[in-house]
Amino acid sequence: MILILIGAPGSGKGTQAKYLKERYKITHLSTGDMLRENVGNATKLGKKANEYMQRGELVPDKLIIDMIAKRTLKEDCKNGFLLDGFPRSLPQAKALDEMLGKKELELDAVINLIVPEEELVRRLLGRGRADDNEETIRNRLKVFNEQTSPVLDYYRKQNNVKEINGTGAIPKIREQIIKSLA
Ligand code: ADP
Repeated sequence: MILILIGAPGSGKGTQAKYLKERYKITHLSTGDMLRENVGNATKLGKKANEYMQRGELVPDKLIIDMIAKRTLKEDCKNGFLLDGFPRSLPQAKALDEMLGKKELELDAVINLIVPEEELVRRLLGRGRADDNEETIRNRLKVFNEQTSPVLDYYRKQNNVKEINGTGAIPKIREQIIKSLA
């Protein structure tokens, strides 16, 4: 099974991913977590990515696409994977299509977690990660609306998007996602 989890920053992608990876026995691939690990280990990629992350901008597509291409080759992705935070731009979505096509794999679904903007800001301000200050948050939301929304439209044209209300109790949201995939 191959799933994509899309949602604005603060929409709860990470929270739901933890459950979904267990439910479907697939590997959780969070590009944000992978990048933060690279930043923490001061790798070449981490050093390049950090400035973009601090500003709340997208890390250049090529870096992200190479990172995901390499990661999905690993043994633990054989059973499928759950993409969290990728693709986040149209070039990334097209690169993913190509990657899957070459392996004759198919995307099962795109899960869109919908949360109103004022709720997103409230959640992110309460979270306190290094890039969760008000200015960066505002920029990340803008980047989401400008660069990631077209990705949703791209998948909507393929009738592949499950629209999920991302507000309310976490288990209720979970249930909605599972139901949409049944
Ligand atoms: P959030 O969804 O709250 O913004 P993430 O952990 O998904 O948190 O992403 C944190 C930052 O990592 C983003 O603001 C961006 O700079 C970078 N990033 C993560 N995924 C991608 C991606 N697919 N393409 C480009 N940049 C990314």
